[in-house]
Amino acid sequence: MKRFKFLCKPEVIYGVDSVLSIPDIIKKIKCRKILIVVDKFFSKTDKFAKIKSIIGKVVDFVVFDKIEGEPTTETGDECGYFGKENGCDCVIGIGGGSTLDTAKGASIIITNGGRIRDYQGIDKVPSPGVPKIMVPTTAGTGSEVTFTAVFIRKDEKKKGGINSVYLYPEFAILDPSLTLTLPPDITASTGLDALCHGMESFLSRKANFLTEIISLNAVKIIWKNLPVAYSNGNDLKARENMLYGSFLAGIGLANAGVTAVHSISYPLGGKFGVPHGIGNGLLLPYVLEFNLPEIKEKLGFLAKELNEEWKDLSFEEASVKMVEEIKNFLEVFKIPRLRDFGIPSESFSELAEDALKVSVPIENNPRSISKQDIVEIYRKAY
Ligand code: NAD
Repeated sequence: MKRFKFLCKPEVIYGVDSVLSIPDIIKKIKCRKILIVVDKFFSKTDKFAKIKSIIGKVVDFVVFDKIEGEPTTETGDECGYFGKENGCDCVIGIGGGSTLDTAKGASIIITNGGRIRDYQGIDKVPSPGVPKIMVPTTAGTGSEVTFTAVFIRKDEKKKGGINSVYLYPEFAILDPSLTLTLPPDITASTGLDALCHGMESFLSRKANFLTEIISLNAVKIIWKNLPVAYSNGNDLKARENMLYGSFLAGIGLANAGVTAVHSISYPLGGKFGVPHGIGNGLLLPYVLEFNLPEIKEKLGFLAKELNEEWKDLSFEEASVKMVEEIKNFLEVFKIPRLRDFGIPSESFSELAEDALKVSVPIENNPRSISKQDIVEIYRKAY
């Protein structure tokens, strides 16, 4: 068995209405003033009014709700200095990955000062941030369990992650009732992101026997429940499973990493505003198709786990069928193609160069990939 390291940091509180346990956490960690970073949609809900009211009974707080789309480094800086100037010693993030990442970034600005872009890269954060309580309302990025926060550098039109152990949240509250309001298109895009985290971490070069169990189960849960949550958003059981699945996929992502799907998707988000989950979902079958020579056994195994009727197929046969099955699966969600985002095909070469610079997922990819291979993948997803 190969050597590996495994980390799952946050204390996890799971269940419908578990968000109401925030005051208990606050009492436990004894903070004096809280920065609540909240998603724009969620900030206007009755649920948020209730959360503010119960938090207000135990501690002072300020609210930052200025997250417009996927966060820029400037948004992260503004949020961090808002918390710092208000003397906050704890951050709560309630929202999708954009909100949670902004909250995670703010927590390190509060203690370290500086700017978000100073810390983009690997292990560039000098010291821990203030404690972080993460409450996802999408299912999702898994940000509540990862050591990453992603911000767009607007001037360069590029996305870049801060990757540091100091970004691991201390608490993750998984309350599926908060995801019931997700409309079908966002259910699909965020759910496909989670599916990619599960699949990519399962197939990553860095996968180990512990992450493989977690990632495989994440994929099984998401595969079964995403179409249900998409077609009936009020199905609480499907929402519960999706939040659980995306959390598991996040553990896989944090420990085994993602692969070329994410590298190839990043520039689409930075340059053309393609939502993170859409870019990943759209690219997934074409990257798997490219990877096939190296993943026949593993993808075949996963395929047979997902499709019982394929049990008599060889791993190779099942792996080839799985790529087509994923294309059919994506049809259900009617996600746009690359051409629908007005991306000129002449930009593929430059996009591919940028994708290769998102180097860690490229290194994790089970098959070596070149600029020309990536251009071909963009063409197929056009
Ligand atoms: P998001 O946070 O950008 O939210 C998408 C939309 O959904 C927004 O309009 C938001 O207002 C709305 N929304 C959120 N919750 C809702 C709810 N319960 N009901 C109705 N509407 C709701 O989307 P996301 O996919 O969760 O996050 C994407 C960001 O996360 C990207 O910046 C991506 O790069 C990042 N990301 C981070 C990690 C990590 O490990 N930190 C992993 C993957 C992705």
